[in-house]
Amino acid sequence: MNKDMKILCLILARGGSKRIPGKNIKILAGKPLIAYTIECAKRSKYINRIIVSTDDEKIAEIARAYGAEAPFLRPAEISKDHSTELEAFKHALSWLKNNDDYEPDLIVKLFSTSPFRKTESVDKAIELLLSNPEADSVRSVTLCSEHPYKMWTIEKNLLKSLIPLEQKPKDAHTLSYQILPTVYIQNAAIDVIKPKNIWEKDSITGDVILPFEMDEYESVDINNPIDFFLAESMIELNFARDPNEPIIPEDLEFYAKYLDLNVNQCIVCESNQTSVWATYGSFTAVKCNKCNMIWINPMVNKEGTAKYYQDYIGMRFEDVERTEQRKKQYIIDRDYIMEYITSGKVLDVGCSGGFFLQELGEAFDRYGIEIDKNAVEYARKNYSFGQNVINIDLMEAPFSNETFDLIIMRGTIEHLHAPNVAVKKVAQLLKKGGFFYIAATPNVASFSAEFYRERWNQFHPIRHLYYFSVATLQKLCKKHDLKLLSYRLPYMETPYASVENNIIRVYSDIKLKKMGMAEKIPRSPPFWENMLNIVFIKE
Ligand SMILES: [Zn+2]
Repeated sequence: MNKDMKILCLILARGGSKRIPGKNIKILAGKPLIAYTIECAKRSKYINRIIVSTDDEKIAEIARAYGAEAPFLRPAEISKDHSTELEAFKHALSWLKNNDDYEPDLIVKLFSTSPFRKTESVDKAIELLLSNPEADSVRSVTLCSEHPYKMWTIEKNLLKSLIPLEQKPKDAHTLSYQILPTVYIQNAAIDVIKPKNIWEKDSITGDVILPFEMDEYESVDINNPIDFFLAESMIELNFARDPNEPIIPEDLEFYAKYLDLNVNQCIVCESNQTSVWATYGSFTAVKCNKCNMIWINPMVNKEGTAKYYQDYIGMRFEDVERTEQRKKQYIIDRDYIMEYITSGKVLDVGCSGGFFLQELGEAFDRYGIEIDKNAVEYARKNYSFGQNVINIDLMEAPFSNETFDLIIMRGTIEHLHAPNVAVKKVAQLLKKGGFFYIAATPNVASFSAEFYRERWNQFHPIRHLYYFSVATLQKLCKKHDLKLLSYRLPYMETPYASVENNIIRVYSDIKLKKMGMAEKIPRSPPFWENMLNIVFIKE
C-alpha cells in the first residue's frame, strides 16, 4: 500500500439519542462509549486522520480529549432523526476540502456503538478493499441470529411470511437453523468506503460491496439500554476480552531458542515420572507424579535467562505506586520473621537493591548477594550496609559455614536453576538454631494455581522456574536438617488485595470456563493463598 494514502476515519456521533440519552458519551466501564472507537482507530496501522462529526459540543470536547479531531459542529438541519448518513458524509468531506484542502483516498466509517470492534478487524477490512480495486466498499457483517425465513408481518390479524412463501422451501419456518441458507446481517461496526461513491454514485457503499465477517462478540451494537447493560456485563465478566491478547505481555517466544536445559528428575523426591501441568507457547510446566512439585521443563538456559533479565531489567525502579506497594509488603514480610528473630547476622539471597535488608533495621548485621549488577550498585550507593552487598552467585559466596543467624530468600527461590543445591548451601551457611526464611514465593497449592495454570498471575516460564508448596518446601528442606516452624499465606492484609474486585474476577473466570470459553480468561488477579511465606530452623 502507498504510504502517502490518506485514510480518514469518520465517526458519526449525534447528540440526540432517544433510546439511550447521551449514548455516545455515556460511561461504559469507566470510559465514554465513543472513546472505545477512537482508541480502536488510533491503533490502526493505516488510519492517519480521525474526525468526529457531531452536532454536540460536549461530544466534540470528549472526542478531542481522546485524541480525535472535531473541527466543526454538524449543522442541526442534517442532525435530525430522519437525517441520512450521506448528508453527514457530504458535509464532513466538503468541510475538510474547503477548510483544510483535504481529500481522503479512503474513508473508514465507524460508529461509537461498537465498543468491542478490534483494530485488527478494521485493518483487515481496509486491506480487503485495497486488494480489490473493483469493489466500491467493504461492509462488516455477522451471522444472523434470527433467520428471515422465520419472520412475519401481521395483516388482517393473520401472520404473513415476510419472505413470500413461494420464494422459500416448503415449511421453511419450521426447519432448524442448521439447514437453512446462511444469512448475514450488517453489524454497523465497520464500513470502508471509496469517496467517489459519495460524489459519483450518491451512495455510501456503492454497488460492489465486499463482506467482512465478524464474530458475535465484536458485533455487539449498542442501541438500547439492554445492549448497554449487556456490554457492561461483558466487560466486567471479560467476555469482551480479545483472546489474542497475550496472557503475559512480553515476547517470551523470543527466548524459546534457549530452551535446552532439561530437568527430568524431581529436585524434591528424585522421581522422573511427570505429567504436563500447563503449557504456554513453547513452554511447558510439568508436575512430579509422586510429590506434586511443579517446574518448567525444559528451562531457558543460563545464557537465555541472562539475556532475558538484561532485556527486562530496570522495570522495578520505575513505577512509584508499585514501589510504595512493595514497601508495604516488605513490612508485612519483615514483621513475620521478626516474631522469631530481631537481631544477628543476616544474609539476603537475591537481595535486589537491598530494600528488604533496609526494612530489617540496624539491629541486624546485614549482608546481601545479588546477580543483578545494577541492583548491587543501587544498594551500595543508598544504604549503610551497601558494602556488604555483593554481586555473586550463592554457590561462590565467600562466607564460612555456620556464619548466619538468618538467611532470607524473598521472591528468589522460584527463580533459581537449582534450588535444591541452593538450599543445601543455605543449610551449611546457617548457624545451628539459625532461621531460613522463604518469603513471597508463589504457592502452587493455591486455588488460583490449580484453576488458572498458565493464566495464574505467578506463572512465568522464564522468571519462575520452580513452583513450590508448603509440602514440597518442607520435604526439600528436611533433607538438609531444616525443620518447618510455620508458614503464612498473606492476602487480605497485603497492598495487592482488592477483595470485592478479586472475587468478582475469579467468579467471572469460573463462569467463562464453565461456558467453554476458557481462552477468554485473562491473567489471574491477586487471591487467597497465592503467595507463601515460610520459616525453617536449622536443627
Ligand atoms: Zn517429586
